Amino acid sequence: MSEHGVVDIMILGAGPAGLAAAYYAGHRDASVRIVESLEQVGGQVAAVYPEKHVYDVAGHPRIMGTKLIELCAEQGLQYEPDVRLGEEVQTLERVSQSGEELLAVGTDKGGPYLSRALIITAGHGAFEPRKLGVEGIDDWEGKGLHYVVREKAVFDDLTCVIVGGGDSALDWTLGLQDTARPPIALVHRRDSFRALETSVNEARALQDAGRVRIMTPCEVRGVHGDGRITSVTIENTKTGESEEVACEALITLLGFHSHLGAIAEWGLELEGKRQIKIDPTTCETSLPRVYAAGDVAGYPGKITLITIGMGEAAIAANNAIAQIRGEKVQPKYSTD
Ligand SMILES: Cc1cc2nc3c(=O)[nH]c(=O)nc-3n(C[C@H](O)[C@H](O)[C@H](O)COP(=O)(O)OP(=O)(O)OC[C@H]3O[C@@H](n4cnc5c(N)ncnc54)[C@H](O)[C@@H]3O)c2cc1C
Repeated sequence: MSEHGVVDIMILGAGPAGLAAAYYAGHRDASVRIVESLEQVGGQVAAVYPEKHVYDVAGHPRIMGTKLIELCAEQGLQYEPDVRLGEEVQTLERVSQSGEELLAVGTDKGGPYLSRALIITAGHGAFEPRKLGVEGIDDWEGKGLHYVVREKAVFDDLTCVIVGGGDSALDWTLGLQDTARPPIALVHRRDSFRALETSVNEARALQDAGRVRIMTPCEVRGVHGDGRITSVTIENTKTGESEEVACEALITLLGFHSHLGAIAEWGLELEGKRQIKIDPTTCETSLPRVYAAGDVAGYPGKITLITIGMGEAAIAANNAIAQIRGEKVQPKYSTD
């Protein structure tokens, strides 16, 4: 029934956990297919904070997001799995083929993709940015409106307005100091910020030096330009006064909506609203031969960190392989 070959392990999502699962499955000589809804691998690290440093991944005292993903991909893809980018997984069925029960995954572009086991490493699910409540805001996408900072160079010598009160907004107000044209306007609807106090203090010191302009309690009310953004109208919600501020790059860092989407309808037992319940000793879900690892996998006390997701990926891959081969679960060292 499938135009694609049957693989041992299908991996749903190519973030750090998915890439780690691909490595372990390949290392155990299992055939692997990865399906990822974005056009790139790397999950949140590549999509949300590629140019930030990460300090807490085991074995890497300090590593840039892009570099971490480059290394995860080099390791995870070395056994040449079948990688399908830009396809969102939607359906899961069980089918029988030549007397063998297989899992059949369907995507928005195709499938079914047949496998003996499935490892779900979907993070927070397909995610999309929270947007400003300004009429016609979507029309400015690709014309100066940004929801993430992927490459700092894109903002070289541009007048920037950053909107948000959390860590991302503060981090990029500081992180673009060597790139954007000063002062960077930082707009937040409340007077107090949710971000790390040291970042807020640093931004206030930069304001004193004329390199940052903190605008609170303020909201963006209008976006103007001709083909590309040239300015925004910002209202002070306390005084009611509005001001048109020069802006070539409007960077709204208001967080992401994320949802498990169709995966939540598969009959998997959930942990809360956003995670799939797993047995942490095997990483198996409530559905047989369906495993989960990384941010999407939940159990009491779960900590959502890259290192934890990588560990769970190793547990999931080794258990999935043992189950489909009818073997005992045991570690196989990679040293040669
Ligand atoms: C700003 C920020 C800073 C962070 N800093 C740190 C840090 O310093 N240290 C740390 O350990 N962690 C940090 N984290 C958390 C870390 O990024 C996550 O724990 C990690 O990315 C989880 O990896 P994952 O592979 O489980 O999921 P993700 O990275 O979310 O990857 C999941 C992938 O699955 C794909 N996917 C989802 N649904 C589907 C579908 N239906 N079909 C196909 N593909 C799908 C997504 O597109 C995504 O690429 C940070 C997170 C953020 C947002």
